[in-house]
Amino acid sequence: MTAGIYCSRAGLVALLVEKGIFGGQITYAEHVENFPGFPMGISGLELGEKLFAQAQKHGLKTIAAEVTGLEIRGELKVVKTTDGDFTAKAVILAGGATRRKLGVDGETRLTGRGVSYCAVCDGSFFQGQKIVVIGGGDTAITEALHLTKFASQVTIVHRRDQLRATHVLQEKILSEPKIDFLWNTTVSAIEGTDMVEKIRLVNIETGEKSMREVGGVFISVGTNPDTGYVKGILPLDENAYIITNENMETPVPGIFTAGDIRHNSARQAVTAAGDGATAAIYAHKYLM
Ligand code: NAP
Repeated sequence: MTAGIYCSRAGLVALLVEKGIFGGQITYAEHVENFPGFPMGISGLELGEKLFAQAQKHGLKTIAAEVTGLEIRGELKVVKTTDGDFTAKAVILAGGATRRKLGVDGETRLTGRGVSYCAVCDGSFFQGQKIVVIGGGDTAITEALHLTKFASQVTIVHRRDQLRATHVLQEKILSEPKIDFLWNTTVSAIEGTDMVEKIRLVNIETGEKSMREVGGVFISVGTNPDTGYVKGILPLDENAYIITNENMETPVPGIFTAGDIRHNSARQAVTAAGDGATAAIYAHKYLM
């Protein structure tokens, strides 16, 4: 969105292609406290809407479609989408990342039947139920805090004995009476006939196995970048994030990246916005 705002304000003919909600991952955040300029915080959806309105005000064209391929034809780049091909002299890849799967038995079959990756989207279905959240990062803790509004109990299952989440979130969660922890524990299977009924657990220090009855399983074990369509075209790191320099330039002249899709991103809304501005400025210089 920020790259779009900067490109439009620079007078470039820019098209933004988005397969989901304009604004991306942040629109799933119930409350964003750390985006500068909003001292009382703002809902992720509202932030996305504001960015979208600002981009449109500056003339950014948008299309709802999924990018499926990228082709380099000399100085031109062809972006293939589910709504046709678009040719441009410069492309900024800011497609972000999607939630990583845990990869255990029952996860895929029971997704939407008690297994979820989004507390803001699905939390209200779990009124009065016992829920587990898997993960120990900022997302897991934010999701767990949100779920206390609905659930009778929220158990965080983390594979280590220390959270990865930022200090301020840790302080909040440790004083929340509905939340408890299963440390050094992993989930080996999610079970249920039509809906989630129970999970199988392993204590990775003692090897002890156990079972727990739960109504819902929220999985927050990190993200994977959406870079399948640039394999073989751009250099990727070992986790498939795109490698760029500090100007957001890739080794292919005219292709830039921004935000969660790139290697070493701090993966914050504000740093993604900064990347977007940098990418647009260098894309403009490249075109000039
Ligand atoms: P993350 O920081 O990568 O954390 C993923 C968590 O899942 C880690 O605790 C990790 O355990 C655990 N995990 C990974 N694979 C696992 C597996 N196979 N089984 C069990 N546990 C597993 O991801 P995130 O929490 O989604 O955050 C992503 C980025 O977004 C971060 O940079 C974060 O700061 C940012 N973010 C910020 C905010 C905010 O500022 N309020 C909110 C949400 C996200 P280990 O700790 O052992 O590695």
